[in-house]
Amino acid sequence: MDDNFESWPSGIKRTKPREKMIDVLKNVEKPLSAAEIFTEVQKDIKNVALSTVYRSLELFVKKGTVTKLAIINNELAVYELNRSQHNHYAVCLGCREIFPLKFCPMEKILPDMVDDGFKVVGHNLEIYGYCEECINK
Ligand SMILES: [Zn+2]
Ligand SMILES: [Zn+2]
Repeated sequence: MDDNFESWPSGIKRTKPREKMIDVLKNVEKPLSAAEIFTEVQKDIKNVALSTVYRSLELFVKKGTVTKLAIINNELAVYELNRSQHNHYAVCLGCREIFPLKFCPMEKILPDMVDDGFKVVGHNLEIYGYCEECINK
């Protein structure tokens, strides 16, 4: 395991499909849906079931290894590795493509936005619109 991904989460059994899932998530720049992760895992491991991928994803989410992002009013769930530096994404309402934002606008202002004594552990940001291709359709 490399850079941002520190160690295998305790309490999760190491299996070939799960190792492959983490591998897949490590090597992408944008979050993937369960179906996309499944497709990638299947390239190496033929006899894996979609339900296995779903169940493992939920486990990883519970352990904090993977972050689940529900976007466009929960219509679309995508997953990414929980790295030390977090990302936000803009979603195209036309083709559902996901585009990483260049920076997090919340990071600097958040501490001033909440009352003392409230501990912020995360935040969501939903940006949607149309990508260049969809605008020109
Ligand atoms: Zn688009
Ligand atoms: Zn942020």
